[in-house]
Amino acid sequence: MFKARINKLMELRSDVGVEAFYVTRPQNRFYLSGFTGTAGALLLCGSGAFLLTDFRYLEQAKQQSPHLTIVDATESLMNRLDELVRENNVSRLGYDGDHLSHNEFLRLKDKLVSVNLTATSGLVEKLRLIKDSTEIKHIEEAVRLSDRAFEQVRPHIKPGVTEREIGLRLDFAMREMGAEGVAFETIVASGPRSALPHGVASSKRLQKGDLVIMDFGSVYCGYHSDITRTIVVGELAPWQREIYSIVLEAQLKAIEAIRHGVKASAVDSAARYVITSKGYGDYFGHGTGHGLGLDIHENPRLSRKVDTVLQAGMVVTVEPGIYLPGQGGVRIEDTVIVLESGCRVLTQTPKMRLEILS
Ligand code: ZN
Ligand code: ZN
Repeated sequence: MFKARINKLMELRSDVGVEAFYVTRPQNRFYLSGFTGTAGALLLCGSGAFLLTDFRYLEQAKQQSPHLTIVDATESLMNRLDELVRENNVSRLGYDGDHLSHNEFLRLKDKLVSVNLTATSGLVEKLRLIKDSTEIKHIEEAVRLSDRAFEQVRPHIKPGVTEREIGLRLDFAMREMGAEGVAFETIVASGPRSALPHGVASSKRLQKGDLVIMDFGSVYCGYHSDITRTIVVGELAPWQREIYSIVLEAQLKAIEAIRHGVKASAVDSAARYVITSKGYGDYFGHGTGHGLGLDIHENPRLSRKVDTVLQAGMVVTVEPGIYLPGQGGVRIEDTVIVLESGCRVLTQTPKMRLEILS
């Protein structure tokens, strides 16, 4: 699997005019190596594939990346890289221009004096767009963990409880059930705060009549999930019912639009049309969704100007929302896999029943 991924990347060498790649971005390094250590870099050339890391990770690297030559770079990563580049006659090396810091680049340039360095952008990310069956399994598990966490925490959502407590319970439930981490800082935003699209859980207590947006996710084997549910504490007021049903309709229409061969912008339009035609267009100020995988936000973005054509195996979120300043907001988000015909919604948490009547 990792070898096939490396081979695919190597096929792109001629497109960008390099002979070898220096891979430093952790998510890309993991994608090509399976190595989860926090320090290390890959050198991929025609004559060999190397993982340079330090003493702390040498054993781990051997176990996780048997397809690579593990190089002990405890003393100096730059010196070992220089040696390998010489031994393998690399004269044109591509580095990740989106990730390597300016100072790291200067160090590279100072050390590899006879090598032509080329900044590349988004090459491994391009390979990562289409998920294979192993990746889909990991994403499915990450989604399942967040679904189950919501189920467990739901009885605790009641007046008087703080947003932070709900957030912590969600995080705890996901971790306890096997998530290796949370996908991002959990959002719990209630009452007027629910009009903040990214209102991180605060010490505000839930009150009767509050809309509560909860946006959270887990990480499993490196892969993320992302779910948003909005509930109301008590019974829905007419304005809440109205915006909830519009957002739900927009979300379902966007999901209906997703299939292999459709432009990302068309999915955004499907959701946006529903919201705009009901007069709330100005209150939906973000894109309809985003890809996810080893990163919580990846391509393709489902937004107005994105021409990317969706392909089977892409995994995206669908998350339209309406936010009324000072009043409150609603967002509904699922994670879905693009299929040849249509898509499969991974998120199982219901989105129809949303009143907490206790
Ligand atoms: Zn989200
Ligand atoms: Zn999202």
